[in-house]
Amino acid sequence: MTRCPNCDGEAVIKYGRIHNGKRRLRCKDCGRQFTPEAVWRKISDETKALIDRLLVERLSLAGIARAVGVSEFWLQRYVNRKFRSAPAPSPAAAPTAGAEKGGW
Ligand SMILES: [Zn+2]
Repeated sequence: MTRCPNCDGEAVIKYGRIHNGKRRLRCKDCGRQFTPEAVWRKISDETKALIDRLLVERLSLAGIARAVGVSEFWLQRYVNRKFRSAPAPSPAAAPTAGAEKGGW
């Protein structure tokens, strides 16, 4: 369920699309327009630090996502970005997309 990022209301209606084809939504309560992507919860630095530790333990991405309460989709993007920007300390610490599906 998409909620309004401004007032957290659920009275959200479709309101066309923006230039890149993403859906635009509008809150009937406060009138705020937004895209669903902008509503995503910000992941705290504490959570990221926890994720980093769990990655070192070689848990599956699905397991980590469940343990810390983030979406697998977000976690995969986070891992991709992390290991692309920084040289991985060891190859084992970099889970690859889909490789551990069904683990756990
Ligand atoms: Zn609102």
